[in-house]
Amino acid sequence: MFFTNCPLRCAWCHNPEAFALCGSGHEDEEKKVRMVTIRGLLKEVERDVAYYDRSGGGVTLSGGEPLVQARFVERFLTACRKRDLHAAVDTSGAVPVEFIEMAAELGDLILYDLKSIDDGIHREWTGKGNGLILGNLERLNELDVDVWIRLPMIPGVNDDAETLEKTVRFLRKTRFRRVSVLPYHRIGEGKYAGFGLDYRLVGVDPHPPERITEIRRMFADAGFDSHVGS
Ligand code: SF4
Repeated sequence: MFFTNCPLRCAWCHNPEAFALCGSGHEDEEKKVRMVTIRGLLKEVERDVAYYDRSGGGVTLSGGEPLVQARFVERFLTACRKRDLHAAVDTSGAVPVEFIEMAAELGDLILYDLKSIDDGIHREWTGKGNGLILGNLERLNELDVDVWIRLPMIPGVNDDAETLEKTVRFLRKTRFRRVSVLPYHRIGEGKYAGFGLDYRLVGVDPHPPERITEIRRMFADAGFDSHVGS
């Protein structure tokens, strides 16, 4: 399930609704936001329980940034735990550390996005530096929860050898070994103009599949359980 709102402004975000919907003045788009109660959401989730049981899956809270609505997430995760429902939280990490600690305590899995290990690049392409994000990841390293690292791979932004090597060095100091390389795509590009936003990556082509495989292998060679995609 997708939550609206996000503290970051990644230039490649394929959900610009996440930061453009609420208060955007785009009435049609704002109508797509649905207010839900914990009880209502649980009802929807429980309809899929048989499927989760068969597939070994569960609920993923994504966005936008779900932890922007931390109190709601806290109550929802508590309810999932009581029902023995597997719950994952997909976070940008750009939130106060106590929200991360709460998700680690109540969730079963944290999907943690790392946009760039370089503070300047991070600031330039997401609107914020990465200090809070790396600090929260270090805190997660001390906690008892499964964490999968997700690395959006954006051509010309964070895919150079030096940045990748720095990322490997940083992650090797942690206990996290599952890494997903997320190839850049242009699915969101067409939405930007509709929101009156500039798409900064016009003309940037996705990596050829061989380059993504090469990056995945580089992480595998460094001892990571590396994947392409989720
Ligand atoms: S963190 Fe995710 S939802 Fe937020 S702007 Fe970046 S890509 Fe979009």
